[in-house]
Amino acid sequence: MKADPTRQNKLLELQQLDTKLAQLDHRAKTLPEHAEVASLAKQQDDLDAEVVKTETAHGDVKRVLSKAEADVAVVRERAERNRKRLDAGQGSAKDLQGMQHELESLARRQGVLEDEELEVMEQAEIAEAEAESAVKDRDAVVTKLAEVVQRRDATLQEIAAEREQVLAGREDLIIIVGSDLMALYERLRAHSGTGAAPLARRCCGGCQIEINPVELSRIKAADEDEVLRCEECSRILVRTPESGLAS
Ligand SMILES: [Zn+2]
Repeated sequence: MKADPTRQNKLLELQQLDTKLAQLDHRAKTLPEHAEVASLAKQQDDLDAEVVKTETAHGDVKRVLSKAEADVAVVRERAERNRKRLDAGQGSAKDLQGMQHELESLARRQGVLEDEELEVMEQAEIAEAEAESAVKDRDAVVTKLAEVVQRRDATLQEIAAEREQVLAGREDLIIIVGSDLMALYERLRAHSGTGAAPLARRCCGGCQIEINPVELSRIKAADEDEVLRCEECSRILVRTPESGLAS
């Protein structure tokens, strides 16, 4: 294939841009924020479940507490009613004695129920504290996750903007390189990401292997329009002032 040296040289610039694009894509794919977001999302799922669990437990204990409070209230009201009737002195002596007995029994019952109520109250306080703590932990993770997502998206945006810039430069180069040379370059690049390399200090810039003297003589004698290929890696070899061909 023949292509004037300007077109061949633009191929090296094109290769630099393509290498840059590959680096940007790799960077976007391997941002540490990706793993961080996944880990925090998992933590949030676990903590959401913990919030539901502890809030349900708190709700259950609150219902038990309401029941205990209602039981105490019933006994207290009945005792109050009896005491008023006793104070009023209504009824026969036998009735009054019966009421007095019931009052004593109600007082014992009230004591037992109030002890139970107190115990449930303590359980409710513990359950409430656990639910609040779970919500706090979950909210902290939600905040942290939002921060990391924002940081990740900002970096991805930067990378995308840089990519656009590189692509614009690439479009210009493609026109100069021309379709025949581009087709060869793209075909070679598909294998290893590098389609063209400079011949630098008698070495192929692609595979870094030194060009043997016979091949070097052939290269020196070659027309400057001739598109050279590395014998080792097949990449397009572009001659530059640093190629070491002068001597
Ligand atoms: Zn090579």
